[in-house]
Amino acid sequence: MASINWISTRPAERASADVTGLFVQEYGHKPAGVWSAPGRVNLIGEHVDYAGGISVPFALSQRTCVAMKQNNMGAYRIVSRIGEPEEFQRFTIPVSDVGPGRPQNWAGYALGAVWAGIEEGAIDPALGGLDIAVESDVPVGAGLSSSAALECSTALAAAELVGAEKADRTALMRACIRAENEVVGASTGGLDQQISLFGRAGHALAIDFSQATARHIPFDIARRDLSILIVNTRAPHSLADGQYAARRRVIDGVTSSLGVESLRFAEDAVARSAEWAAAHGPSPDEPIVDSERNWWRGVVARRVRHVVTEIDRTERAIAQLEAGDLREFGASMLASHASLRDDYEVTIPELDVAVEEAMAGGAWGARMTGGGFGGSVIALLPRDRVEQAADSIYEAFGKRDFNAPEFAVAVPCDGARRER
Ligand code: ADP
Ligand code: MG
Repeated sequence: MASINWISTRPAERASADVTGLFVQEYGHKPAGVWSAPGRVNLIGEHVDYAGGISVPFALSQRTCVAMKQNNMGAYRIVSRIGEPEEFQRFTIPVSDVGPGRPQNWAGYALGAVWAGIEEGAIDPALGGLDIAVESDVPVGAGLSSSAALECSTALAAAELVGAEKADRTALMRACIRAENEVVGASTGGLDQQISLFGRAGHALAIDFSQATARHIPFDIARRDLSILIVNTRAPHSLADGQYAARRRVIDGVTSSLGVESLRFAEDAVARSAEWAAAHGPSPDEPIVDSERNWWRGVVARRVRHVVTEIDRTERAIAQLEAGDLREFGASMLASHASLRDDYEVTIPELDVAVEEAMAGGAWGARMTGGGFGGSVIALLPRDRVEQAADSIYEAFGKRDFNAPEFAVAVPCDGARRER
């Protein structure tokens, strides 16, 4: 049997020491402190955060650590130890050069969050230049939200570095979302930033995006001898590309044409989506051509059906979780995946195969998590089936010439915090 890869996760103390070491090596002086923020999995409620829906994520033990100190250079210096094989990526950029659309590279997530945090009043504008070092155990581009982990750790650090003992996390959350939307240009919703800042050990967070409310729900599946297995498919993907924006365009368009705040509040949203589909084609710049009308109406209806059914499913899934009906909860996960595959069309063969193999291996439920087009699957499994399920997924991927997947057991942990 080939040896399968488990994602390594450093204890918080180790990661803090490592990022401090990187900082000292890079800048020749000690950081003022170290902060961290976690990646996440979303248990259910996918592609509905930007649609006034409901999601149920939890924060992971895999975290991004940031060491930080003010400099008096009027510039941000940032370094990240990243990748396989490991390399150092660094940037120096004047403070005044950070803003909407810049910088257009990975540093935009971190520095954009500082810029937006100042705009939102959560970070002191007198902060000035910063030296920043980054280390992460959140796999990048795996659908586990390394982007939010980077934004939230950096933003919390900048907020607490001067003055704020207790940062305004709600304002920081808005700032981190703006970094992703306005600086990097990825039109994601607010799910990732909210859980990265507000996660709680042993709990999932039921977020209602139309009410802007959130409730911690105990998620102690270990007591039931169950685990959540993460399968990072390692298939190439990018969320910042047009697919995510294309889904949003349809949902935002139909929602406003129906005059509601969220599709969940519209009667007959699926049927009534035909009107928007008749007036707006698949491409925003071109009118719809006659030969495409029927096909496009069907596409729009399916996109809307995903959002409507997923919100409804998530409402029921929360009740199942709270009642301890984990078999039923697993069935909801599986139904969510089917909807994302057939109606929203954001899965790829790697995600579908991982779900099928997990179910064949005794999972109670499994689904893609995150934005899709690559990324990860989560499976709810009896603890004693985890290793075997991982083996069979690994083998199934090998047979199909997919990239070798990697695995982790997901443990609900705390959100962003100061480490030292
Ligand atoms: P995900 O959030 O699911 O991991 P995204 O595509 O949203 O995937 O974000 C991944 C991007 O975030 C990377 O391509 C990189 O630009 C940036 N990023 C995340 N973590 C780090 C890190 N530790 N160092 C440098 N860049 C990072
Ligand atoms: Mg992301």
